[in-house]
Amino acid sequence: MTLPKEHYQHIPSVNALLAAAPIQELLASCPRWAVLKETRAIVQAMRDGLEPIVVDSQEKVAWHERLVREIGERAKRTARYSLRRVINATGVVLHTNMGRALLAPGAIEHMTQVATEYSNLELDLETGERGSRYEHVRELLCELTGAEDAIVVNNNAAAVVLCLSAFAKGRDVVLARGELVEIGGSFRIPEIMELSGCNLREIGTTNRVHLRDYEGATQEDTALLLKVHTSNYRVIGFTKSISAGELRPLADRTGVPIMHDLGAGCLVDLQMFGLPSEPTVQESIAEGADIVTFSGDKLLGGPQIGVIAGRADLIAQLKKHQLLRTLRVDKLCLAAFEATLRIYRDSKEPEREIPALRMLGLSASSIEARAKTFSESLRGSLPASCGIQLRPGQSQVGAGAAPEAGLPTTLVAIDTKGTQAAIVEAALRRGRPPVMVRVGGGELLIDLRTVPEQDETLLAEVLCAALAV
Ligand SMILES: *Cc1c(COP(=O)(O)O)cnc(C)c1O
Repeated sequence: MTLPKEHYQHIPSVNALLAAAPIQELLASCPRWAVLKETRAIVQAMRDGLEPIVVDSQEKVAWHERLVREIGERAKRTARYSLRRVINATGVVLHTNMGRALLAPGAIEHMTQVATEYSNLELDLETGERGSRYEHVRELLCELTGAEDAIVVNNNAAAVVLCLSAFAKGRDVVLARGELVEIGGSFRIPEIMELSGCNLREIGTTNRVHLRDYEGATQEDTALLLKVHTSNYRVIGFTKSISAGELRPLADRTGVPIMHDLGAGCLVDLQMFGLPSEPTVQESIAEGADIVTFSGDKLLGGPQIGVIAGRADLIAQLKKHQLLRTLRVDKLCLAAFEATLRIYRDSKEPEREIPALRMLGLSASSIEARAKTFSESLRGSLPASCGIQLRPGQSQVGAGAAPEAGLPTTLVAIDTKGTQAAIVEAALRRGRPPVMVRVGGGELLIDLRTVPEQDETLLAEVLCAALAV
């Protein structure tokens, strides 16, 4: 669109807009670069004919006020953090896209101290010599899992790559076809094997594998018998898999170690929450896995970290591997992880202190009671056209753990009459703070399991704002 020439003279100058009192006030809290950027952008948009220009002198004052308000809002949005808090009203407890596990207060406290003070990260305070950062969690991990030794890296994907590279480069790794998994975010076992330089020896069929398949595939050049927990899917029906325990005699006979990629890294029995049991780390070690790998931020409920636990001679090999240095965990993660592990060791009820476990443990009746109160308060403030109902539903563990199992919950279902649910859902995502909900059957579905009680008021405010549009 080309602008009539005479309109240019009506475009306010950048300096005039910046001089306006509200903008000057804004500069106390909002960085100058953001204000300048948005002021220039709005002036440019007028020049390009993309932003209306008011020529009527009567309306000019109100127009300038509007412009200044608009600049203020845009500048605040431009200056805000990119990574910021979100209200998770989906009921997916370990949502990978929303940061998986929330940390326990003790973990945050310890992390803050290690972040703001010098520490003995790699310092042996007894001798004054250089120490190892891995020492800070080694004993705790051994105690909790029953492993001889343990080491940590950035995440479980890194743990798997390090183990495969160190133990099986240029050699064969035996794996059942039914365990050739893909985890979200492009972690695919066949590609990871290739990256680590080992040869995949696929055995069995999609649904079944037998001990004789493992026996037949184990030869001179076999470096590992790998088991991968099928975290995010289940093969049901006519199935058979071989446990680490059943592989043990073969491993003993041939000297080929068993590696178990557990994924979720559960330290407590999920049955206490009414979920199907996931293999715990200590079970896998006790059964006979020589090496287990798992995540710190899935069911363990700690920071993002990958744990490798198992036989001391194998861990010693990893400590000498060059890759370990490139996968080195940061001190803040270590601090949070040590504190989280201490909760498991020291607390009578870790499932009450670890936020992820606490959310999984919330009873259906307590969520129902909260959903009732919440929906009643919403009824008072939402447009009358919005129908609000309670519905039985299922919360999810998330992060690919216990995929087929839901936890009974009560959903607050909002019928967004007139406005499409998807449009309201998008408005919620852009809310302050952003709110993530589920959409189903044309309704917004809110699961309070993942919403801390103290956030309910804020959630209601963002909902009302989004539904008013
Ligand atoms: C989640 C998972 C991984 C990847 O772990 P990250 O901590 O996300 O790197 C690897 N293997 C299995 C079986 C998993 O479930």
